[in-house]
Amino acid sequence: MKRFILAFTILFSISFQAQTDPKIYDIIDAVSEERLRNDVKTLADFGTRHTLSDTLSETRGIGAARRWIKSQFDTISKDCDNCLEVFYQKDLVEKGTNQRIVKDVMVVNVVAIQRGTKYPNRFIIMSGDIDSRVSDPNDFTSDSPGANDNATGMAGAIESARVLSKFKFESSIIYVGLSGEEQGLFGGQGLAKYAKENNWDIIGVLNNDMIGNISGVDGVIDNRTFRIFSEPITTDETDPEKLARQARGRRFYGGEVDGISRQLARYVYKTTKTYMPEMNPMMVYRLDRFGRGGHHRPFNDAGFAGIRIMEAHENYTQQHQDIRTEDGINYGDTFEHVNFSYCKKLTAVNAITMASLVSTPPSPKEVGIGGIVEASAKLKWNKVEGAKGYKIYWRDTTSPTWDNSRFVGDVTEFTLEGIVIDNFFFGVATVGEDGHESMVVFPNKIIR
Ligand SMILES: [Zn+2]
Repeated sequence: MKRFILAFTILFSISFQAQTDPKIYDIIDAVSEERLRNDVKTLADFGTRHTLSDTLSETRGIGAARRWIKSQFDTISKDCDNCLEVFYQKDLVEKGTNQRIVKDVMVVNVVAIQRGTKYPNRFIIMSGDIDSRVSDPNDFTSDSPGANDNATGMAGAIESARVLSKFKFESSIIYVGLSGEEQGLFGGQGLAKYAKENNWDIIGVLNNDMIGNISGVDGVIDNRTFRIFSEPITTDETDPEKLARQARGRRFYGGEVDGISRQLARYVYKTTKTYMPEMNPMMVYRLDRFGRGGHHRPFNDAGFAGIRIMEAHENYTQQHQDIRTEDGINYGDTFEHVNFSYCKKLTAVNAITMASLVSTPPSPKEVGIGGIVEASAKLKWNKVEGAKGYKIYWRDTTSPTWDNSRFVGDVTEFTLEGIVIDNFFFGVATVGEDGHESMVVFPNKIIR
């Protein structure tokens, strides 16, 4: 009996200390550079994928591009016993909605859902964009290959579907090509609205926008670093009184840098550091690049966690440019500038983040914290069905990452002896099978 207990204890502690799941390494290996290259080439070869471009041709324009994307998802689905629900989600955007909508246009997204076995209505979303543009945002006829911006993100979503559709997960995954990005983030708005109408329980959105450039306009060449943009707090609250109450709460209890999108960014960071230690994830504490936008924002506006994953070094001569040569510089977002081994790595970052998130039960909804004028902080949370246990995280208030943690087993409250509440930020995550963890939840209640 004693020996049995000892063996059990060793097994138990190994499984929770190692915290790596061999399946995740298989997923990294399965992402194909070759298929990404082929798909970006195919997308670039549609000539232009401008949102307002031709929809009837079979070879040129956004119509041909989205039909091809749908055909890829359909093929993937056939190969996995129809494991994907593939459909177009569309909204009419009327002429004059903004200056970039110069005629009525149907903004069409291509959606592929891989249903979870246990939480079919709980989703992690990976998005890329279908559309492209040149120097004049309203020029919908000129050649606009959009190889890096954003055929790479689109190809990444398709490739992730190929890889992850070979597995079964507890929660659902959505792979999506969004349209209308360059004209004003219309595809994201449409899908966020659709998600609300259909009561989707969204874990988060991984918006991939330009994941293939390693050679920056600053001269830096770097195939290891990538950026994760996240806004500090995410809310769809509009009632000024409630907003004021939330702000007051943050002033006294913290939380200014701990919104749900920020927790998602930290999750991507941690998962990358664990499974792809050769990579340098770089969290940027802002919504997006300075003054610029991306398709995670409409999801943030709707109250969902959403981040942007992208290269660290951009090349502006290869973004939103007419194809031309000027002063010896080749302008244009063309196929030959894309680095596919980097694109493969960032695709793998998405795939392993999603695989981890859909392999674990949901985060606790309610997390309370207490310990004012006491020597020890205590945390309390709601029980999550199917959880193997919970992990308490804490960090110095100036640290961007959850640096300290303690697995506390299958309990719903715990006191961290000697850890003073004033000096750290705290959070709680659910731990599921194979040691996978949910996103960390920052306390949303005070216990007295
Ligand atoms: Zn763009």
